[in-house]
Amino acid sequence: MAGDGLKDIKSEYDVIVIGSGLAGLTCANMLAKFDRSVLILEQHTKLGGLATWFKRKGGHIFDVSLHGFPAGMIKTCRKYWTPEIAKSIVQLKGIRFDNPQFSFSTTFDVNDFTRIMTDNFKIPREIVDDFFVTVRGMNFYDDQTMTTGELFNKFFPGREDVVRLLMEPITYANGSTLDDPAISYGIVFSNFMSKGVYTFQGGGTDKVVGDMETELIKNGVDIKTGSPAEKIVIENKKTAGVVVNGKTIKSNAVVSNGNLISTIRNLIGYENFSEKFIEEVKKVRINNSSCQVYIGIKKGEKIDYIGDLLFTSTAEKFDSKALCSKNITSRTFSIYYPATRPETGMYSVVSSTNANYQDWAYLSGEEYRASKEELIESTLNALDKYLPGIRGKIDWVEAATPKTFESYTLHVDGSSFGTKFEGLKVSMDLPTELPGVFHTGSVGIIMSGWLGAANYGVITANNVDKYLRL
Ligand SMILES: Cc1cc2nc3c(=O)[nH]c(=O)nc-3n(C[C@H](O)[C@H](O)[C@H](O)COP(=O)(O)OP(=O)(O)OC[C@H]3O[C@@H](n4cnc5c(N)ncnc54)[C@H](O)[C@@H]3O)c2cc1C
Repeated sequence: MAGDGLKDIKSEYDVIVIGSGLAGLTCANMLAKFDRSVLILEQHTKLGGLATWFKRKGGHIFDVSLHGFPAGMIKTCRKYWTPEIAKSIVQLKGIRFDNPQFSFSTTFDVNDFTRIMTDNFKIPREIVDDFFVTVRGMNFYDDQTMTTGELFNKFFPGREDVVRLLMEPITYANGSTLDDPAISYGIVFSNFMSKGVYTFQGGGTDKVVGDMETELIKNGVDIKTGSPAEKIVIENKKTAGVVVNGKTIKSNAVVSNGNLISTIRNLIGYENFSEKFIEEVKKVRINNSSCQVYIGIKKGEKIDYIGDLLFTSTAEKFDSKALCSKNITSRTFSIYYPATRPETGMYSVVSSTNANYQDWAYLSGEEYRASKEELIESTLNALDKYLPGIRGKIDWVEAATPKTFESYTLHVDGSSFGTKFEGLKVSMDLPTELPGVFHTGSVGIIMSGWLGAANYGVITANNVDKYLRL
């Protein structure tokens, strides 16, 4: 549908959803099921947002953000998408850690973590149990003054090794640090610990997003890709539609799935909000971005099973600043075996690293190319420790940086997980400031990742439907 202008779409909808990330898609699907007329406008030529993939010569298909999500995604897909999508979700059993403080494999669930913390780390069982009960009991309405660092210090004082075990994977999963509210750690960690880490099998992101697109069309949603929304029209302090390709399409409700800050600053404009609200907006911090290296194994070539997710680091201890540094010490390798896409029988490896936009955005063309080359070379060297001779087995390698993420999603600073915690309140308060304008998507850590984004889409769809019924 890319590039086909705006023909075939109506002049008015009940709801226009700007952006087709998992939150936007899920929100649109729910609203269509509520019998609302819905239009999705996506600036990119593909649906999915960060839930994306790309194909390369040699038969390679690379998944960008499909490394693992909590078991809750099964219920979310079954209830809000289709039973078939839910059925394709399987557990990743081989989560491996390798760093100067420890090295082992785990199924990344509460039973296995309890075993590791008591047997390997020699923490008394009652303290481990108490910790799990505490984090499981955390909820959004709790006191938010305790930081994650303080939480760890309360249960495991002086134990930097335990802090690394508990924190490093979550920093990868949502960019949070020891200084963020403990609640933002507790909810995400408990989600994973309930049953482990899951992914799709029998088809990667291309299959899942393709199935979602089929379902949206079946439910009557109009979809326009290659169509960046330029403005959310505000009339009499309410929304009246969206400007796209210079044309206004009318609607009484608009949901932006784009970056929270650019939605408020660029699509709506500060002048439409109260000063008090803008003060809050200006305090919202953007989350970190990422670098990735995509490594394609030649067709017909095999690699040994070394685990599904490999958290590696050469840093002496956990340090969230070092995790984002351009001088990379920590990498998460996702290894895709033929089970992901049985029809291709191929393997690939994707290395992900948290990154700062500022380290990459202002390089000259030559510096940028050289830095990408260095990123690729150092990543292949790091992978060779786990897959000796890997260079001889690959026929494709390329890298993405924060600039890549920025250009494909329009996220401010190429953010991988929206905003920090304070963004959640601003996102949720948007319709109180401007009736009819809603936001959904990765925001505030809790609502991040595949599961959080999809679930926030459901919450927003319910709020939009309620608003339209008034
Ligand atoms: C490298 C990386 C690895 C990740 N790994 C995992 C993982 O293993 N597990 C996990 O759960 N999560 C992971 N995530 C996070 C997860 O992918 C995201 O949290 C989630 O996909 C975000 O969904 P979203 O709905 O917020 O929207 P996004 O995916 O951010 O999509 C927003 C959409 O809005 C569109 N848009 C923006 N502005 C406009 C406009 N003006 N007009 C039209 N369209 C517009 C964009 O093009 C985009 O399609 C990862 C992220 C990254 C970057």
